[in-house]
Amino acid sequence: MSEQAIVINNHGNFEKNFLEKIASRLAQEFHLPVSIEDCHIDLSEFYNPMRRQYDGNRILKELDLHSLPPQVKKIGLFRVDLCIPILTYIFGQAPLNGNTGIASLYRLHNEPYGMNKDEDMLLDRFKKVITHELGHMFGLLHCHVPHCVMRSSTYVEDLDQKSHNLCKKCHAEIRSSISGQHLT
Ligand SMILES: [Zn+2]
Ligand SMILES: [Zn+2]
Repeated sequence: MSEQAIVINNHGNFEKNFLEKIASRLAQEFHLPVSIEDCHIDLSEFYNPMRRQYDGNRILKELDLHSLPPQVKKIGLFRVDLCIPILTYIFGQAPLNGNTGIASLYRLHNEPYGMNKDEDMLLDRFKKVITHELGHMFGLLHCHVPHCVMRSSTYVEDLDQKSHNLCKKCHAEIRSSISGQHLT
């Protein structure tokens, strides 16, 4: 029987050290093994010249074509500006109970908001976005607990205000969803 796991797909040439910090955060939150794979897809076909952004829905679909066994959750990490038709931009996206999600660092930098560059803050925000998307993939909806990572975030300020962690309720839900799948 294959085990449940999380795989990080590196689509942004991120440094190993940077990804390892993310991986250890995810392992701690979800209590699952996390591995990292370097990947490459040609993003030019997902570029929308009108919006000067990349189509998140189509990238998600593309990654899902190469999906892993259903018990493995895959999150693709990018550096490009992602969007979907109804939103100006997205930090990340993942279908509820889906096996594939995406997240991008693009909108998480301080500089476009007139603040000083801060690498720690950037990593912090990215960890929160990734944990949030994985939460959806494990069946969690948005949560109203202010500090919960499953609270929805539109702006970087929203990300900064919440913690890295799932609240007690979300954590309990995810534990039962993960152990439940384990039995089948
Ligand atoms: Zn969400
Ligand atoms: Zn919660």
